[in-house]
Amino acid sequence: MAIDTQVGEELKRKMTCIVCPTGCQLEVQRDGDGKLSITGFQCRRGEAYAENEILNPRRVLTTTVKIRNASLPLLPVRTTEAIPKELLAEAMQVLAQVEVTAPVKTGDVILANILDTGIDVIASRDMKRVEGVA
Ligand code: SF4
Repeated sequence: MAIDTQVGEELKRKMTCIVCPTGCQLEVQRDGDGKLSITGFQCRRGEAYAENEILNPRRVLTTTVKIRNASLPLLPVRTTEAIPKELLAEAMQVLAQVEVTAPVKTGDVILANILDTGIDVIASRDMKRVEGVA
């Protein structure tokens, strides 16, 4: 979770680093010129995490899509890499329109290049075909 204090272009954010279980408490300050000052990290990975969270936050999207002819109505899927955080809601809308047909194997590409990110959405599990299920 992040706590923000913003005045004009200046920003002060407290966040927990999630890169490793140590969970360092980070503090990022951005001055009026956009320059970042990051404290609280114990290693460079934490510093990079904080910088990315401010400049280019990204997340792996995990969700489900509809599937036909399977024992369950929904197939778990995920993006192969993190996508920009601001595209998550739009990506969810796109995937809500997707319907696949069993059988599906883990890693099958369900939707290629979602929202022109160059990143695919893949199946997170196998789903066998079941006869007599719509
Ligand atoms: S700053 Fe480094 S040590 Fe601390 S939680 Fe992040 S990755 Fe782990």
